[in-house]
Amino acid sequence: MNRREFLKHALTVAAFAPMTSLVAKEGLDGDKSSEGKGRQITRRRYKNTALTVPLLGFGMMRLPRLSPDKPDIDYATTEKQIAMAMEVGLNYFDTAYFYHDGLSEKCAGDLLSRYPRDRYYLVSKMPVRALKKEADVERIWNEQLARCKTEYFDFYLVHNLNRERWADTGKFHVYEFLKRKQKEGKIRKLGFSFHDEPEVLKVIAEAHPWDFGQIQLNYLDWTIYRSREQYEILTKLGIPVIVMEPLRGGALATLNPEATAVFKKADPAVSTASWALRYAASLPNVLCVLSGMTLTEHLEDNIRTFTDFQPLTDAERKTIEAALAAYRKSGAIACTECRYCTPCPAGVNIPRVFGLYNQAKTTGNTGHFRLVYDKMSPDEKASACVDCGACLKKCPQHIPIPEILKKIASEMEAPQKKIAVHPVPDYESFV
Ligand code: SF4
Ligand code: SF4
Repeated sequence: MNRREFLKHALTVAAFAPMTSLVAKEGLDGDKSSEGKGRQITRRRYKNTALTVPLLGFGMMRLPRLSPDKPDIDYATTEKQIAMAMEVGLNYFDTAYFYHDGLSEKCAGDLLSRYPRDRYYLVSKMPVRALKKEADVERIWNEQLARCKTEYFDFYLVHNLNRERWADTGKFHVYEFLKRKQKEGKIRKLGFSFHDEPEVLKVIAEAHPWDFGQIQLNYLDWTIYRSREQYEILTKLGIPVIVMEPLRGGALATLNPEATAVFKKADPAVSTASWALRYAASLPNVLCVLSGMTLTEHLEDNIRTFTDFQPLTDAERKTIEAALAAYRKSGAIACTECRYCTPCPAGVNIPRVFGLYNQAKTTGNTGHFRLVYDKMSPDEKASACVDCGACLKKCPQHIPIPEILKKIASEMEAPQKKIAVHPVPDYESFV
């Protein structure tokens, strides 16, 4: 983002009256959800109601695992993280039907049900891509209630909408079903999450009186993924925004050395992740920023960022602009490691291959890449792709997966070939 875009952005943001307002102290929450003592993270008020939401949400998509390649969750660590979160009023827990192959909802049920139900917000989503017929909507809903050990959801979303899934949402009367559940008191706030072009978002957002919308937003995607237009559409319609992927699957927490140096020069005491989280949370119509905090250190760092939250200053925005310019030179792929493209019928471990490749690109450490990559089974490697195209429709980032895998195979699987460090083509050329 160049300086002109930044200034334009600041003016645009100022033009919108905020749907949400900062509530920095405890005791203002009509939901009794921040009764802990000591430091509390900043909350935002939902429109002009007594409902307040922590500005940082606990994403349950990337929970600590028992083994890196299996979905099984490390309950002992997660339990400690939840306790730490609850202590500081971080009580918005975002799970979904598919996270950790279904184990995330179960984990939310097992671990959160130990707390009084009015002390936390439980959030899940209707997986439209799993629906084959209308009866599946009720079957999955009931399954989710049972997994989550709850009788209601505080926030509930139609999951991962795009043009095709929006058509299925209509075909299977998903909205009508969920609206009935809301009237029965089983859903407090009804929204949707979204991955597609702003033009599609506008159609969806205007179709119903949604309580909130969840979009991918971070300083890298503000222009290349058109997050800015998405944010503005929701804001104009008076729909509060929940942010997902503020760190772009962790990529904005581990930038290349050049970009990291820009941040460290500006403030050696704060993490690279903190800059990205503050970027998203500084937007006035953002109700909550979700972060999947696999390591306890991530959680601790994020709690620091969101305690007495400070929006970005103009000088800090310029620092992000400079770091972004340095990051663009690294050549990383736009993969967020969300795993939506899995399983690949040929067995390629797409998120793992892309994750390792990005690590090599951003750190310049090809040795680590070879160490791990060479131990992967031949089926999991980039060269195992048979170009069937099955993954293409599933990737919310619109990454041309087989094309990139071919490039990685030729670049990384040739014996002792050094990784070429060069600027990757602009993201738009990938979509
Ligand atoms: S195109 Fe390649 S990576 Fe994608 S699903 Fe087919 S074989 Fe797997
Ligand atoms: S390639 Fe796309 S779908 Fe697969 S993990 Fe990366 S971002 Fe997610």
